[in-house]
Amino acid sequence: MSKRLDREKATVQMMIELYCKAHHNPDTKLCSGCQELLEYAMTRLAHCKFGESKPTCAKCTVHCYKPEMRKRIQKIMRYSGPRMIYTHPIAAIRHVFDGMKKEH
Ligand SMILES: [Zn+2]
Repeated sequence: MSKRLDREKATVQMMIELYCKAHHNPDTKLCSGCQELLEYAMTRLAHCKFGESKPTCAKCTVHCYKPEMRKRIQKIMRYSGPRMIYTHPIAAIRHVFDGMKKEH
C-alpha cells in the first residue's frame, strides 16, 4: 500500500467524520449514510487505476464517482477542508481540497 494513498484515505475519513459529527451524529460513530459514503470512497481509491501517480481525485481525468456520491463528498470537503487545516498537516488537506475547489 502506498503512503500517498494511505494519506488520502486517512484524509477523506477524517473529513467525513468531522462533517457527520457536526451535521448528523454528534455522539456516535458515522451515521449509516456517511458510513456508506466512506466505504464508497475507500473502494474508489483502492481501485484507482492511476495508483501511486494519481492526481487528486477531483483533478482526475477519470471521474469514477457516481454523480450522487460526488455531490455528497464535495459538500463534505467544502465543510471539513478549511476546518482541518488547523489540526492536520496542511499538505494532506491541500492535496484533496484544492482539487475539489477547481472542479467546476
Ligand atoms: Zn453522517
